[in-house]
Amino acid sequence: MLTTSKQLFEKAQKGHYAVGAFNTSDLEITRAIIAAAVKLNAPAIIQISEKAIAYAGLENLADIVKNEAKHAKVPIVLHLDHGRNLKLVHECLEEGFTSVMFDGSNLTLPENEILTAKAVEMAHRKKIFCEGELGTIGNSKNESDFTDPSLVKDYLKKTKVDSLAVSIGSRHATKIKALNIDLLKKIRKLTNTPLVLHGASGVPDEEVRKAVAAGICKVNIDTDIRHTFSETIHGINKKYADLSDPRDIMAKVMADIQAVVEEKIKLFGSDGKG
Ligand SMILES: [Zn+2]
Repeated sequence: MLTTSKQLFEKAQKGHYAVGAFNTSDLEITRAIIAAAVKLNAPAIIQISEKAIAYAGLENLADIVKNEAKHAKVPIVLHLDHGRNLKLVHECLEEGFTSVMFDGSNLTLPENEILTAKAVEMAHRKKIFCEGELGTIGNSKNESDFTDPSLVKDYLKKTKVDSLAVSIGSRHATKIKALNIDLLKKIRKLTNTPLVLHGASGVPDEEVRKAVAAGICKVNIDTDIRHTFSETIHGINKKYADLSDPRDIMAKVMADIQAVVEEKIKLFGSDGKG
């Protein structure tokens, strides 16, 4: 069923596990994520980025997730990932998203705080949680700017975000060796606000486990899903040369993505928590 993230986070924090947040941009990835969550009786957050919206259309994609979630026997959250403007946050809330993120990490700190607070206000009017980002989670081209613990309390007070993406060493679409777990522990001591790990596809399993144990409550996975999709497609000719029906081809893609999502759910400890 489609749900908000409030209860999911409360249960995850009590149970010391993290909820997986998986990016989708189409019907097949959405179905694969939900199939994995249902099989393992796990809650799941399905998130949509600006790029996914540009690809599939906001209404189309939201409808796919909402319809698929409606028939699932586990809690599913529909979340906006890295919303960078208030207009988009508004549109997603109107479209029935059950969670949003405002990412002001590319702005100055005061601008980040002011705009994030506005996004939070909009979300709270609909009783929806809003995630913010303090520090910058980099990517393959840009280094990260780690979350400064001395700014955390003030940021949370000014913005009233319900969850916080922290920059502790992971980077989008980039492999890293280790997270700064000491920094995460420092931040955790300052607040009970659910903490979010972005760019987790490039983080070794052992580091993800440590981060969840140290208080990460939501873990984002995008790159692993996209790579699995393309690897399966590239391998189709070698492994299944007889396949010509797109529906049979996409069934292979869905099965492979489902397997990846199942692995991640087990890694985060959210299996059996649906
Ligand atoms: Zn991210």
